[in-house]
Amino acid sequence: MRFLDPYLADTDLTELSATDRLRWAWEAFGDKAAIGTSFQGAGLVAIHLARSAGLPFPVFTLDTGLLFPETVALKRRLETFWNLSIETVEPALTVEDQARHIGPELWNTNPDFCCTLRKVEPLRLRLESADCWITGLRREQSAGRADTGVLEKHQLNGTPERFLWKLNPLADWTREAVWEFIRNHGIPYNPLHDRGYHSIGCAVCTRPTGAGGDERAGRWTGFNKTECGIHTFTKKVDAGERKSETSEVPEPPSI
Ligand code: SF4
Repeated sequence: MRFLDPYLADTDLTELSATDRLRWAWEAFGDKAAIGTSFQGAGLVAIHLARSAGLPFPVFTLDTGLLFPETVALKRRLETFWNLSIETVEPALTVEDQARHIGPELWNTNPDFCCTLRKVEPLRLRLESADCWITGLRREQSAGRADTGVLEKHQLNGTPERFLWKLNPLADWTREAVWEFIRNHGIPYNPLHDRGYHSIGCAVCTRPTGAGGDERAGRWTGFNKTECGIHTFTKKVDAGERKSETSEVPEPPSI
């Protein structure tokens, strides 16, 4: 593979297959690149491609304590399927402690704050030890994700000195391609998908939506909210800014 100028990396990675995008990340970052997954379809494909290519990325998942039992069971099935230990990242407060100290059923009164406590802050802490975060984001998932790049550079803490690369190796995959891959490779998936759930998060904030439409329409019904915040709390650095800044994160090496 040829050398990739980090400032042109997104353009160059766009030309590669999803597997080669992952290979690039392994050669660039090693185990400082980690796959974060909630076991949606694209995440499963990304992990499978990495495992099949012999790329032993750490894999982690956020467990809010409010997941569907089917999701919790799926994690165990996938660990067996891939012979892989998936790291569980948890919030500082249990659901009971959150109710006691902040308020009961916070997802009904302030879901943004609830997501911050149960998803965003635990993720931010996990990413402190990563240089590259690999996700299952796809452009087709929603209007808000339509401009997702294959490789993006983000400010992690809103400070100019802490950067994080974000690799979205399936950014340009369709839903149909993802599910064809999952079926063809016999990858275990969440049975809720067969019951009309397209995007699966916490049980108290997710409903089935049936076929078609915005894949994330079943999340946070009744609220003007389509993102939990894990994909919006970092600040994407645009190409112009990339030219002038320095970073604690080493630039990707020659590959
Ligand atoms: S998805 Fe709902 S329950 Fe889960 S963290 Fe966000 S607001 Fe809380």
